[in-house]
Amino acid sequence: MKLYSTNNKNLRVSFKEAVFNSMPLDKGLYMPVEIPELDADFIQNIEQYALPEIAYKVASTLLKDEIPAADLKALIDDAINFDAPAVKLDDKTFVLELFHGPSLAFKDFGARFMSRVMAYFLKDGEQLLDVLVATSGDTGGAVALGFLGVPNTRVTILYPEGKVSPIQELQLTTNGCNIRAIEVKGTFDDCQALVKQAFADEELNAKFRLTSANSINISRLIPQTFYYFNTYAQLKKQGLNEVIFSVPSGNFGNIGAGLLAYKLGLPVKQFIAATNINDTVPRFLESGIYQTRPSSQTYSNAMDVGAPSNWIRIMDLFDQDVEKLKEVVTSYRFNDEETLEGIKDLDEKLNYVACPHTAIAYLAVEKYREENPTDESTAVFLSTAHACKFPDIFPADIAAKIDIPAQVTALESLPKHADKLEANFDEFKSYLLSKVD
Ligand SMILES: *Cc1c(COP(=O)(O)O)cnc(C)c1O
Repeated sequence: MKLYSTNNKNLRVSFKEAVFNSMPLDKGLYMPVEIPELDADFIQNIEQYALPEIAYKVASTLLKDEIPAADLKALIDDAINFDAPAVKLDDKTFVLELFHGPSLAFKDFGARFMSRVMAYFLKDGEQLLDVLVATSGDTGGAVALGFLGVPNTRVTILYPEGKVSPIQELQLTTNGCNIRAIEVKGTFDDCQALVKQAFADEELNAKFRLTSANSINISRLIPQTFYYFNTYAQLKKQGLNEVIFSVPSGNFGNIGAGLLAYKLGLPVKQFIAATNINDTVPRFLESGIYQTRPSSQTYSNAMDVGAPSNWIRIMDLFDQDVEKLKEVVTSYRFNDEETLEGIKDLDEKLNYVACPHTAIAYLAVEKYREENPTDESTAVFLSTAHACKFPDIFPADIAAKIDIPAQVTALESLPKHADKLEANFDEFKSYLLSKVD
């Protein structure tokens, strides 16, 4: 597999280079030079395969011989060791539960696959990999738990004091081993600024092999295609093969992976990009003008993104042709009040409790059906996180129905450890330098 930059289609880098650098120097994003279609025979019979087999087929089609077959199989079995069930809510509506991994969010797919790909390439006595990550909640947990115990790696997570939920904090601070958490007296933006400064610092780069675990890394995108194929397989088994997917979107990595799956040959009738009021993409599809904005805070805070970083990948997949894109992608936005109504509606009508991000994807299905009354497709809305991660949003009667999964209760008895730092780069730098192994 060779990759180019969305800013320079003549560039060629290896998969390994794209994985360790995340981003080309020209600030574009890496994309595969070739997106081969999966053989029709495989798609025809996809219901006969289970998630790990589907994942292997998709990954090997894209990666070609970057990782030998046996190693890639083992890597996938280790990374994707949890289920992604499409749960039936009524005859035409399914929810795809992507929260059965260790951090209870879909980011586990990307983080676990990426960490193992990195570890694979690091095997041959290379320098310890230092992953620096700033988090407002979900990313940090997925990255921490994704890299936990992965040889030759060390993760440093910066999170803003008092601004992550109790479960998120447990996931960040109870790991030990190769994971260290830093509680920053400041905001998420302060955390991100510290990490950015560290990447630009000569002395730190001379001492450490620094990398980000950024969501734009191509090795996070690839594993997210797996569950689209796997969902299609689950539906096909039930005789359903006209499918639309509704995806709660922030940085547009998740739906970007869905569209990559589409380009790889997955038959999907429509993708719906569901956003909160951070609606750069719905506005673009309405007006043709792409204008980013500073993000606004909402109940679905993992989608509070004013400048979705993966959008350029999606435009690239469609050769910048907005009309072609609009044949496959519809987009709707919903505000907090609507989100809360969506949560209640889903509970009342379909007896399902969903996190605020998921509720937005559900609302988008309802809206799509209103606007397209003749479309009889089966709708699948993606559930990107377990409801227990966002406890403050729910009315008491619905909150009472949310169970706490075993992964979380197991963490409650563990000691929490975070080093506390001011939002000050010199302090952060001496901290890093003092921890040389
Ligand atoms: C990250 C995240 C999203 C947004 O996904 P993107 O790939 O950035 O569009 C949605 N929901 C939850 C719960 C998330 O953690």
